[in-house]
Amino acid sequence: MISSAEYLFYHPEEQPIVKCEDCGSRMVLRKSQHGYFYGCTTFPECSGTHGCHQNSGKPLGKPANAETRALRVKAHGAFDKLWIFNGRWRRNEAYAWLADRMTIPYDQCHIGSFNSQQCRQVIIVCEKAGDLPACGGELYLKKSLRKGKA
Ligand SMILES: [Zn+2]
Repeated sequence: MISSAEYLFYHPEEQPIVKCEDCGSRMVLRKSQHGYFYGCTTFPECSGTHGCHQNSGKPLGKPANAETRALRVKAHGAFDKLWIFNGRWRRNEAYAWLADRMTIPYDQCHIGSFNSQQCRQVIIVCEKAGDLPACGGELYLKKSLRKGKA
């Protein structure tokens, strides 16, 4: 059985509409040595790309322009630094904390879907966090965590 991404790759007419945020053109599934991704149809004039679920072939998060993509990388860096090097949190605990600080639902807390303003917010809250609770999280975080996992 072939994966959906593979199917879509050979059936461009059935691919979801993904718009390039750099130039407004349509993006189509492409394949590199790292797997499938969405690439701008006007390449090489425009080098806009967007991530792809390797199994389903669906776009990963929301496409963004070059500025927002750079901000997402920065926001991810600040967030990862906060929890990976902290060593007290699991990934989903860290996301529950972030969702709370951003006042958004846990299941919508994906940096890959954030706009530039949200990315700036991530960077600010992560830099402000500096000293995290020693116990590794508050009770309400665990509650939202269970909900998010279910
Ligand atoms: Zn483009």
